[in-house]
Amino acid sequence: MTTVLGCIADDFTGATDLAGLLARSGVRVSLRIGVPSEPPTDPAAFEVIALKSRTAPVVEAVAESRAALKWLQAAGAQRFFWKYCSTFDSTAEGNIGPVAEALMQDLGTDQTIYCPAFPENGRSIFMGNLFVGCQPLAESPMKDHPLTPMGDSDLMRLLKPQVTKPVGLADRLTVARGARALAAELAALKSRGVAHVVVDAVANSDLEVIAEACRNMKLMTGGSAVAMPLPACYLADGTLSPDAPKVRTPKLGTKTIVLSGSCSAMTNKQVADYTSRGVPAFQLDPLALAENGPQKALDWLAKQDLEVAPLVYATANPASVRAAQEKLGVAGAGEIVEATLSACAVAARDRGARRVIVAGGETSGAVTKALGVTQLDIGAEIAPGVPWTYCHSGGHEIALTLKSGNFGSETFFSEAQTKLEFL
Ligand code: ADP
Repeated sequence: MTTVLGCIADDFTGATDLAGLLARSGVRVSLRIGVPSEPPTDPAAFEVIALKSRTAPVVEAVAESRAALKWLQAAGAQRFFWKYCSTFDSTAEGNIGPVAEALMQDLGTDQTIYCPAFPENGRSIFMGNLFVGCQPLAESPMKDHPLTPMGDSDLMRLLKPQVTKPVGLADRLTVARGARALAAELAALKSRGVAHVVVDAVANSDLEVIAEACRNMKLMTGGSAVAMPLPACYLADGTLSPDAPKVRTPKLGTKTIVLSGSCSAMTNKQVADYTSRGVPAFQLDPLALAENGPQKALDWLAKQDLEVAPLVYATANPASVRAAQEKLGVAGAGEIVEATLSACAVAARDRGARRVIVAGGETSGAVTKALGVTQLDIGAEIAPGVPWTYCHSGGHEIALTLKSGNFGSETFFSEAQTKLEFL
């Protein structure tokens, strides 16, 4: 199999989100954590490389993205997708524009599109302005983001200082006239030297038009949603064979561990729901961990029946989190919890757990690292943006699901397990 679309994502949960949407097509999608050190041997039709470049220095983000591009080209890809956040998270220096321009240069192409819209999640673009729900981006909570505060809602104005070539707009009135009209507008803009085109989208049907018009561009850029219709486009035009390998659902052992390090409002509800079912659960206290280490938790876990999917969690309400952070520092408390949950993941795997459910973005990063996971095949979706994945850890194939912050419904932990039973 050669890769049909090579994707580069600027963070891990963004990569999972994109991979999950592509896998809705039923075609095999593979996610790599970082640029693989080995050349591709068994590439999937859709390859997604997760970088950690959103807030990295521009030079680093560009270099990593170029390395990812090279690997994807070696996998046979001729079309590429640069995925960033649907709220266009970036600073005035970059990294969205500089990475796009570097990739365009390497690919020898003189135009790309920018479409971070995700209408189902309330991200829409009209006349080049990005809205979060009913609010313009710069009036949304994103204005106060600690790392990438967004002080402007106009994507063209945001992009201009990040790139060297002209920026333009294909507006909603053009998109509403269909794929041919949009393709003609892009060609007209190209003839005027416009290299970077922001494209409006306010509904899923707009995304279908954009994907249809842009499916053969060497480089598309955007949020995950505009890539969602691409597999269907490639199947329809024969770029992707109907015999392309499908999403896999290997039969794995039923021993399960649930690990929760997220303290989001939804994860608090999910932990409450799961413990109310009488499932054995161990609550980690960061202060006790700082004093006595993780042994108590590991001893508890060693006695549990993994067939009933016990839970180890640090999830707590904001007051308890603050109390721990005041004593240990924000990073200190986080690291202690992440290290303990990672040790629990490894211990459970070594005792036969083949299903691992993790809540928390940073927590997921720490647990995958501890499990030595570098490649995941995307499986069935449990909740929007949260698929089951299959990967290798310690010589075993395991199912792993990584849920960030507020994703999933209140019953997520039990739903995730039920989902595997019915595959
Ligand atoms: P989310 O996806 O909800 O943002 P993350 O895992 O990314 O979750 O971030 C949660 C952070 O909070 C992690 O670093 C985790 O170790 C830390 N943490 C978890 N529980 C506690 C707690 N009780 N006190 C302080 N920090 C905690």
